[in-house]
Amino acid sequence: MIDSTIRLQVRARANYLCEYCHSSEDASAALFEIDHLIPRSLGGSDELVNLALACQRCNRYRYNFVTGIDPLVTGRSFII
Ligand SMILES: [Zn+2]
Repeated sequence: MIDSTIRLQVRARANYLCEYCHSSEDASAALFEIDHLIPRSLGGSDELVNLALACQRCNRYRYNFVTGIDPLVTGRSFII
């Protein structure tokens, strides 16, 4: 469980924008979620440096992947 103070810090740091697609939480019907850059299942922590504010779409799309195809280059690269 992420501490409520840390949640507020993540939201404020992101200026209430999804840190992946930059959409505004104000334009969303639901509050954005706190995403773990390195998922807990892979040993990621609940520390501020491992957290990002994410809209539901980005958070679901990313799931627990930490790498992906970069369309600007061939091959895989880190997305975090
Ligand atoms: Zn997003």
